[in-house]
Amino acid sequence: MLPPFKNEALTDFSQPENVAAFQAALDSVKNKLGKTYPLVINGEEILLDDTFESVNPSRPNEVIGYFANGSAAHVDRAVEAATEAFKSWQYTSPQERTDIILKVAAKLRERKHEFSALMVLEVGKSWVEADADTAEAIDFLEYYARQNLRIADSSDQLADYEPEDNRLVYIPLGVGAIIPPWNFPVAIPTGMLSASLVTGNTVVFKPAEQSPTCGYWIAELMWECGIPRDALNFLTGPGEVVGARMVEHPQTRFVSFTGSREVGVQIYETASKVQPGQKWLKRAILEMGGKDAVVVDETADIDNAVDGILKSAFGFQGQKCSAGSRAIIVASVYDTIAEKLVAAAQNLRVDAPDKGLDVYMGPVIDADAKKKITDYIAIGRNEGELLLGGNTIDTDTGGYFIAPTIFSNVPGDARIAKEEIFGPVLSLVRAKDFDEALEIANSTEYGLTGSVYSSDADRLDRAAREFYVGNLYFNRPCTGALVGIHPFGGFNMSGTDSKAGGPDYLLLYTQAKSIALRR
Ligand code: NAD
Repeated sequence: MLPPFKNEALTDFSQPENVAAFQAALDSVKNKLGKTYPLVINGEEILLDDTFESVNPSRPNEVIGYFANGSAAHVDRAVEAATEAFKSWQYTSPQERTDIILKVAAKLRERKHEFSALMVLEVGKSWVEADADTAEAIDFLEYYARQNLRIADSSDQLADYEPEDNRLVYIPLGVGAIIPPWNFPVAIPTGMLSASLVTGNTVVFKPAEQSPTCGYWIAELMWECGIPRDALNFLTGPGEVVGARMVEHPQTRFVSFTGSREVGVQIYETASKVQPGQKWLKRAILEMGGKDAVVVDETADIDNAVDGILKSAFGFQGQKCSAGSRAIIVASVYDTIAEKLVAAAQNLRVDAPDKGLDVYMGPVIDADAKKKITDYIAIGRNEGELLLGGNTIDTDTGGYFIAPTIFSNVPGDARIAKEEIFGPVLSLVRAKDFDEALEIANSTEYGLTGSVYSSDADRLDRAAREFYVGNLYFNRPCTGALVGIHPFGGFNMSGTDSKAGGPDYLLLYTQAKSIALRR
């Protein structure tokens, strides 16, 4: 019997020995930068002349790794290999697969700071954000390992029926296309891969172009712990070439995607088309963007609300699907909150996060993101009143830094209040009362996370019924979902509400088989 699931503790950086250990991991990872990584298809490492660079967004001249520009033909080979591997991997016992995934969790725990340090360098996470990302990855492994044993045989859920013995077993689907984003570059791929593999599927995995090193390190860890190399095939290359073919391939049985609304919708369409030779309807597990709101009413604890808005909006530079990029504040407390927010946000240190623990905000991910965010800031100048920031920041490292930016008096239907910016840009929206605040909160096409700060129990009850989001929080930030505690996934254009880290998640990677034996 396994001990009950418990979330991995976050590192206590008030302890000098932990700071020293993290710094040592950063130094060690810096010595491993600049390697060339292969595609891994059917266990074979394939190096290509055609490569792309993954760079440190804080110092774009620093190459984290060189990766192969895979093609559609590589996808075809990888899907074939995964199809072959499925023939045996599907019949390994749930216990055997669970044991391997638990081994991966133990190894990742041992190398925790190393993976976190890699994220500081490859995607510009602060130490605290990177540490939480690795902890979440460990949680996914530990949680899905346990859930796999729970669901494997669900016969006890059936009623008795004489003279039959009846069983309900959850069996794997087949080959999965695993397509994660870069913003949780360890946790999200680890979650998608472990859910797929522990339930007996085989996969073709393509990490995001901005975070392939994190992806390779996870795959390597899984192979080292006993996941067969042909059951986990590793590809890199452009999403619109490699990812698109992974989705389209007739032998692909399911797609597990997390990323933007635009790409998610495209995948949904491609996956729904039955290709020549395809024998099933593909399953699409799609988690997409958000335009998440923090609602504050006049009964709220103001300082707690300010703290929550700040963390939700500017943690990891606002590059979370759960980022609270709108604060909808009831008029009577609006000015006080706006003033406090500006005072707090202007003290946040923005710099290369490898410079130390006290860097709160690092760079945005790349030049494209920097342009998209600054374009939105230009739009915001016409739609609202700029209270703070609005500028890029030049540091000695030459990275993609943008100041924490706050717009005030933004109409609820403004573009910056409705579209996902995915950067450190916060829109403050003034509502005349709680009713109007809730109405504005529900007025986007997304429905991922939301938060309400209020001490009025009736209003919280109302929000519980009417605030249409997959993850709703009261009197706390709208980011920071914990595995096994806040199953995560959104409504409407935020995706298929797959609830990662929840008790139903693995069912999406399986199909139920009912077996009746007449005595
Ligand atoms: P993205 O959509 O640009 O890319 C995601 C993945 O899709 C990448 O691996 C990319 O290579 C691949 N891809 C790109 N084009 C493709 C195509 N035509 N076919 C198949 N695959 C393709 O997103 P991103 O910039 O990496 O990530 C940011 C987005 O992810 C944001 O919108 C954010 O809100 C969202 N996100 C959602 C969640 C969630 O749980 N709902 C979690 C994290 C991030």
